[in-house]
Amino acid sequence: MAKRKSFDEKNKGMHKSRKLIIDTVFGRTDNNQKVHGYESETEVKRKFGEKWTDKNGDSWEQLEAGKIKTSELGDTMAEVRAYLDKLNTCSNENCKTSQYTHIDKKLVRKTGLCLDCLQKQEISLRADGTWPFFEDYKITKNKLGYIRDAKDKYEEALSGVKQEMEIVTQEGKVEKWTWDIDIEKVKTDIQKDIDGAYEAIELLVHRKALLEDKLRELNHPELIK
Ligand SMILES: [Zn+2]
Repeated sequence: MAKRKSFDEKNKGMHKSRKLIIDTVFGRTDNNQKVHGYESETEVKRKFGEKWTDKNGDSWEQLEAGKIKTSELGDTMAEVRAYLDKLNTCSNENCKTSQYTHIDKKLVRKTGLCLDCLQKQEISLRADGTWPFFEDYKITKNKLGYIRDAKDKYEEALSGVKQEMEIVTQEGKVEKWTWDIDIEKVKTDIQKDIDGAYEAIELLVHRKALLEDKLRELNHPELIK
């Protein structure tokens, strides 16, 4: 049986601008990466979003993950890039951060705001009494995401569990395994976990709705996502 190729192996033959986009999406940015390496060009520090033309008349743009030749970007690519730029840019209109640190980049992807804006947001939300509700809201949403994933896994397990299982070995042989356990009991237990997960989801959805009401009441509908 053919071994599964690792992501990097698969990535090797990929077009550079496509790889850049995929790496950006998955946060695998390497700031030393020379996408199109002209030594004389790479030495110039470019600001994020900066556009320039080199001595050969080619136009370039500095993306977060490296510079890219704009002439290589078709319309679709440009749209994807604009979307990614938005995802990787602090969403505060009055943001003063011009150069993102590693932490800024991580926080922008996770929260939509850079470190500086996030800290300012916390200060103002603490001042007007919104903070405890906002924290609760974030925790509730995290729990909801976690329990929904768990429920999906339990359901998958329930549909896959059988007294007799077929297992494909590394050599490609099919082996039959019979579980020396009461499979009906296992299924009942998994079903109990699924029922419990649904109950928890219902409670968390209710809690999330109440907290959203509270955030609206406190004049912070922008915090609801
Ligand atoms: Zn910011």
